[in-house]
Amino acid sequence: MGQIVRLDQNMVNMIAAGEVIERPASVVKELMENSIDAGADEVTVAVEDGGRRLISVTDNGCGLDAEDLTEAFESHATSKIRAATDLNDIATLGFRGEALASVASVALVHAVSRTRDSNQAHCLEIDCGHKGSVAPCSGDFGTTIAVRDLFYKLPARRKFLRTANTEMGHISEQFTRIALAQPSRTLTLIHNGKELHRLAADQSLTQRIKQLFPMLPSEPQGNFIAAESREKNIHIRALLGRPNVSRSNSQFQYTFLNGRFIRDKFITHAIKEAYRGLLEPNRFPVVFLFITMPAGDYDVNVHPTKIEVRFYNANLVHSQVLGALREQLLGTDLHMPAALPTDAHSAQGGASVQQMRRQEISDAMAEFFQKHRPAHRQQQFDLRAYDPARERGQRSRPFPPSVSAPVSTPDIAERRYIQIHNSYIVEQTEDGFVIIDQHALHERMLYETLCKRVRRDGLESQRLLLPESFEVSDVQANAIENNRELIAQLGIEMVPFGPKTYAVQAFPTLLAKVPPSEFAQDLVDLLVEKKAVLNAEDLLDEVLSMAACKAAIKAGQKLTDSEIQQLLADREKYESTSRCPHGRPTTIRFSISELEKQFKRT
Ligand code: ADP
Ligand code: MG
Repeated sequence: MGQIVRLDQNMVNMIAAGEVIERPASVVKELMENSIDAGADEVTVAVEDGGRRLISVTDNGCGLDAEDLTEAFESHATSKIRAATDLNDIATLGFRGEALASVASVALVHAVSRTRDSNQAHCLEIDCGHKGSVAPCSGDFGTTIAVRDLFYKLPARRKFLRTANTEMGHISEQFTRIALAQPSRTLTLIHNGKELHRLAADQSLTQRIKQLFPMLPSEPQGNFIAAESREKNIHIRALLGRPNVSRSNSQFQYTFLNGRFIRDKFITHAIKEAYRGLLEPNRFPVVFLFITMPAGDYDVNVHPTKIEVRFYNANLVHSQVLGALREQLLGTDLHMPAALPTDAHSAQGGASVQQMRRQEISDAMAEFFQKHRPAHRQQQFDLRAYDPARERGQRSRPFPPSVSAPVSTPDIAERRYIQIHNSYIVEQTEDGFVIIDQHALHERMLYETLCKRVRRDGLESQRLLLPESFEVSDVQANAIENNRELIAQLGIEMVPFGPKTYAVQAFPTLLAKVPPSEFAQDLVDLLVEKKAVLNAEDLLDEVLSMAACKAAIKAGQKLTDSEIQQLLADREKYESTSRCPHGRPTTIRFSISELEKQFKRT
């Protein structure tokens, strides 16, 4: 008895803060959303020390009078909903009435506000839940909320804050999401007195994207395809990156629902499907997708930060998005990347490129074995009597010239192989044959070499004649600075080269075939994406498999005989080449006995 007590309100707010306020960027998000809900068309975010010292958001919205100003900081206090039924049709960004109370329970907050019809502003201070009284003060129309020293009374949480740079990266990301979701507002972001972004209300979406993503190709019009559809109450607008602006992760996929940035697995899947066959499997398209639909057709009350929603008819949303994107992509001349087999993109309807490829391979193999089956074997095709030793003794029988291996060493001369579809090598073995995925095998071997050398004394590098520069976002610049050691281990020299620009000055010789700035950008994307979830060793591993993948022979690449021979000979120097670093097999074996079974010879 007496074990259970009701927590006091401040404790309740602090617990709510644990859900909603993870870091300074969460405060920026909540305050900016409040400004937008207040009808502001100008919002300025000023931050100091990555938001650890100060986050101040000023807007020209409707403002709060003295009574509402103090009420706004109570928990579950909101002007946005009244009754349970309102939850079914939420048109504002906020509605939980928890953000201000949460923020004020874990920081020192100073708020100033003035309504449109008042000639007097009011201010209020709350120090970790201890609220002062409202006092008149001078101030413009609108509201400024300044949040100082976040988590200063909660050392355990303060400890989890990262460097100012890292926190600023997260803030920039939140700012970017809201800036894209709310294109017709003037938004400014300032860090330590320096203006990072000033986005004008009258700029177009493509102009805004260009300003927010300097690292994307500079002419959005030329690199993006616009798609639009309006059906069954769902309005979809999208800017779809052409395959050539694809990235190594999904970081540049932004989905917005009625002015709110969301993440949704159905939509992610629809985007992936829309690009099926147009991109290599490990590439992700750049997509900006804006969905407008009745607020009553989904539930936003499923996640404390409202980043997830629940669609009542998720299948419909999926099919509308897929349809709109796919139709536009297929109706546009995309100049397929050379790496894919030439007619892969003509895949219609449900037939996946992979299935088609499999069919093509088996057709080609059937054809090959029919054409090139040696005469004497055709006569007495008794595989049970197959004798590898005898087979070797008859080596002098000429192979068709297009597939014959020039005889250089006896070992190589013994190989029989053919490259099919510029992607696979079929090689005869003693007891059957193997099909080698040329990209996967080469990738595996490169990966092993890279691993060995990196761990021994780092990769050897070569200075570039001309440094190659590329632009970065704040988050990316930050990732570069935080991973200096790893980048040096790779033999890459990357130096700041102007505002938001880095240059590659030296590059590993083992990756000589890869364009340095392209590689550097993918590396940075990977660092941004994986840093938080992987330890140093796994991160290095991830980077090396990416490097191997990029430097390896591609699918779709025609190989000369000597290149094939090299590949097959090199294979023997490696211990485990049966799987590529991503876990896919590099080689599939077929034995004579299996063939016998298939041809019903047993
Ligand atoms: P919610 O946004 O979920 O309603 P908050 O705790 O974020 O909850 O805000 C509480 C209330 O304070 C809001 O409902 C709104 O009425 C008022 N408010 C907050 N920020 C502003 C602002 N910048 N301008 C005008 N009113 C605001
Ligand atoms: Mg709010």
